[in-house]
Amino acid sequence: MVEAWHQPTAAPAPTDDHGRPQLVIEMLNTAERIAVPAQCDDGGFRALDLDRLAHRLRDTRNGNELPMDPALMDLVYRIQRHFQAGAIRVVSGYRTRKPTGQSNHGRGRAIDIVVPGAKDEDVAAFVRSQGFVGVGLYPTSGFVHVDIRPASYYWVDWSGPGQRNREQATLASQAAANDARAAASGVRPHTRWSEPSGDVDAVWRNAGSTSAPSDTEDTEDDIEEDP
Ligand SMILES: [Zn+2]
Repeated sequence: MVEAWHQPTAAPAPTDDHGRPQLVIEMLNTAERIAVPAQCDDGGFRALDLDRLAHRLRDTRNGNELPMDPALMDLVYRIQRHFQAGAIRVVSGYRTRKPTGQSNHGRGRAIDIVVPGAKDEDVAAFVRSQGFVGVGLYPTSGFVHVDIRPASYYWVDWSGPGQRNREQATLASQAAANDARAAASGVRPHTRWSEPSGDVDAVWRNAGSTSAPSDTEDTEDDIEEDP
């Protein structure tokens, strides 16, 4: 299964009218697929397309969705282009935030991905080089967690699907250096994003639709289902 995820796509990403590859998202859970055009080489997606992406990247356990931080979508697009991949395969996008949750998945700022045709280690290395990111390698489960944040942090987690997380920080000395290099080249830290929809947790509470996942703690990645 994990190996199949990493197989290259049958076709390259479709291009837009300018010959630029579109961002292609394939959801491993639902087999849904979406292609959206970027406005420039580094990304830049129209509000309508960001809405479509947010819907595809919803929490499939309960259908909740939240706008995704546009800067995360730009980063995902750069990953796809760097590896000349036909798509980005997504293990998990938005995950409903728990009342005390700190996960960037609950803020629309994190995504767990597989890049078809690329090794997870290479994907992680590229994302680290971008600066102001969280990068988690999951060698057993076979994906890379990517998020955007004010200061980089990297980890490895050998736990498998359904197991308790075992994050181990890694390459701490590189994190600051990568951020400094990114800043020198004009990249700004990803400070807290003001989510457009306000207190979404309260909205869901009031709607009676908050069904907190049954695991015991909120770490970045608590995969509870086999995609
Ligand atoms: Zn994750």
